[in-house]
Amino acid sequence: MAGKKPCVVIVGGGIAGGTVAKALQSHSDVVLIDPKEYFEITWAEMRAKVEPTFADRTIINHKEYLTNVNLMTTTAVDIKSKEVMTKDGRLVPYDYLIIATGHHDPYPVTKGDRLREFQADNKKIKDSSCILIVGGGPSGVELAGEIAVDYPDKKVTLVHKGPRLMEFVGPKASAKAMKWFKENGVDVLLDQKVDLEHSSDGVYSTTAGKTINADCIFICTGKPFGSSWLRESILKDCVNQQGQLMVDEHLKVKGHSNIFAIGDITDVNEMKQGYIAQEHAALVAKNLQILVKGGQESKLGSYKPAGAMAIVTLGRKNAVAQFPFATVSGCIPRMIKSKDLFVGMTRKKMGLKG
Ligand SMILES: Cc1cc2nc3c(=O)[nH]c(=O)nc-3n(C[C@H](O)[C@H](O)[C@H](O)COP(=O)(O)OP(=O)(O)OC[C@H]3O[C@@H](n4cnc5c(N)ncnc54)[C@H](O)[C@@H]3O)c2cc1C
Repeated sequence: MAGKKPCVVIVGGGIAGGTVAKALQSHSDVVLIDPKEYFEITWAEMRAKVEPTFADRTIINHKEYLTNVNLMTTTAVDIKSKEVMTKDGRLVPYDYLIIATGHHDPYPVTKGDRLREFQADNKKIKDSSCILIVGGGPSGVELAGEIAVDYPDKKVTLVHKGPRLMEFVGPKASAKAMKWFKENGVDVLLDQKVDLEHSSDGVYSTTAGKTINADCIFICTGKPFGSSWLRESILKDCVNQQGQLMVDEHLKVKGHSNIFAIGDITDVNEMKQGYIAQEHAALVAKNLQILVKGGQESKLGSYKPAGAMAIVTLGRKNAVAQFPFATVSGCIPRMIKSKDLFVGMTRKKMGLKG
């Protein structure tokens, strides 16, 4: 490789893939494979449904922050020992490969079409009196909170199959969210599923025998990890039962000296969060530069799993925060997340105007 820049192929253009591409673009020949033309600040999605104009700053075309990257708008479908194969039949050679395919969630290809999706969701909300949200994880909770605050005249029902909301954080955080929903007129039904196959004319029934009338429904149940495309690849033995890629302390895929994985797709035992994905990206960018300069394995930086920290918004003026040693709701988490949803900060990290 002497004299020639190494070719780094990154699969996945979320916060993990976008961040590492930006960090490496001046040191290596970087290719980013992503089925869409833009990076989306995914945690701002629920605000964009109640205020579609908010989405304009949260959807950023890759070419706005990646000035020296070969962008391939396609899906990776297989990995060979030296190439990535794409859906449109191309073979993309790599010296190093970084997998950042997070969760499987197909989005439209262009920013314009994604913005139109938010406008359509917003119209759906505006045109409805009764709204049913299925799934009490972070997406369902944040959407219910946004609608309850921006459209207080709508009847919102949130149905969750588990015994408490947001099982990824502690029970105190769930209890605080439940209390807030009660005070803000949102009906929360726990321990039951909505029968989606047998609903008709806006009448839904649950496995606990409840009937819910709703003019519109949002499905916010968990998404699978974005690893199904790896099941027949050279990495098939590195995907665990949950669909995550097994990595070592340097975030290399186990048993592969030139393949890394970062972000939600990894099996690191920690919460799946965007700020953590950014830390993975920073570490792998550094490790790759060490390897490219001929540095030894022993010089590579090691990753320490992050402590439990997450903030879930409850509309524009409230939130519940899970910190490693405390659970807090009210003005502190509100000031940290609810107003701008870290959009300005994330844009600045990408080298853009907040
Ligand atoms: C409601 C909600 C609120 C959240 N709030 C916060 C928060 O406040 N702070 C925070 O830090 N985190 C938050 N998170 C978590 C955060 O959204 C994720 O941790 C983060 O988006 C993970 O980034 P990623 O790049 O690893 O994966 P993803 O964002 O899932 O991106 C994966 C990318 O890979 C691409 N891809 C998938 N398969 C292929 C393929 N075969 N070929 C090519 N490309 C492919 C996709 O198009 C996508 O661009 C929240 C999540 C939710 C649901």
